[in-house]
Amino acid sequence: TYILAIETSCDETAAAIIKDGHEIVSNVVASQIESHKRFGGVVPEIASRHHVEQITHVLEEAFTKANMTAEDIDAFAVTEGPGLVGALLVGVSTAKALAFAHDKPLIGVHHIAGHIYANRLIEEFQFPLLALVVSGGHTELVLMQEHGQFEVIGETRDDAAGEAYDKVARTMGLPYPGGPEIDRLAKQGKDNLDFPRAWLEEGSFDFSFSGLKSAVINTLHNAKQKGIVLEKADIAASFQASVIDVLVEKTYRAAKENKVNHVIIAGGVAANSGLRTALEEKFRDQKVKLSIPPLSLCTDNAAMIGAAGMIAYQKGNRSDWGMNANPALDLEMYGNR
Ligand code: ATP
Ligand code: MG
Ligand code: FE
Repeated sequence: TYILAIETSCDETAAAIIKDGHEIVSNVVASQIESHKRFGGVVPEIASRHHVEQITHVLEEAFTKANMTAEDIDAFAVTEGPGLVGALLVGVSTAKALAFAHDKPLIGVHHIAGHIYANRLIEEFQFPLLALVVSGGHTELVLMQEHGQFEVIGETRDDAAGEAYDKVARTMGLPYPGGPEIDRLAKQGKDNLDFPRAWLEEGSFDFSFSGLKSAVINTLHNAKQKGIVLEKADIAASFQASVIDVLVEKTYRAAKENKVNHVIIAGGVAANSGLRTALEEKFRDQKVKLSIPPLSLCTDNAAMIGAAGMIAYQKGNRSDWGMNANPALDLEMYGNR
């Protein structure tokens, strides 16, 4: 079974062809980061326009690299939400046109289900499975008992991890996106500033990063007022240590409590080198299997949408021509379709 998948939820225009839900035949990503950099973040209107300009080229390349045509495709999958509505619409309209023209099923996919299923391109899932989702807009612990079914057992109450990275980076005067910049700086610094860790109530798997973000910003402002020069690398290292401590500890506890067999990480922040190392260490002597996807599958791509789309395809979930971009699509409800 060949699925052609399209992803345009944010600032990556992407298309991929996936075989049987776990094999990448082709995977093309056109990033718009350079266009958004000077604004310090993603500008929705610019993102939509870039998607319109890029989508046909990206699709063509995905077919060329696979040495296939639309006639070889069994179903067309696309990110239905969540994301920027104007950006999503470009992918949704394109997938509808393709599915209609070639008389093949249309499959709407949840973007976070996609991030999770990026892992299935590397390793088969073992259930129960726990996914730590850490991206630009989401920070969640998701429990899965079977394919295509999702229970959110913890989530951020304010900022997402990636959002905190990007905002702290911006205050530090680092370019967008800030995650990779802080990751790079953190390796050269010392965790010598005592930033808070938000553990929340006993037993809670929820997260909170706004207090940490404010603490970093206040420290920067106070130092500036007093004329003290702080090492950027130390701020990065201390901030990152705080984020990682909480992410790793809560993931570990949730894995124990739910007796899972498999732990995976997903989303752009899963590319963080400190987080990857800390998780590997924490789970090294544990029975549970830990999967960490390659960097290219952590950030937005269409291969992951194809992998998740295959599950919907097997469940018999078809979208109709009335499918719309849904910026607020709910993960659990998507799984219950
Ligand atoms: P969502 O998936 O929640 O809709 P998104 O698609 O915008 O949001 P992703 O593309 O999955 O998010 O991830 C982008 C985020 O990942 C950005 O916030 C970026 O700073 C962060 N990021 C990327 N690489 C790293 C890294 N090495 N360390 C920390 N953060 C990183
Ligand atoms: Mg992105
Ligand atoms: Fe994403």
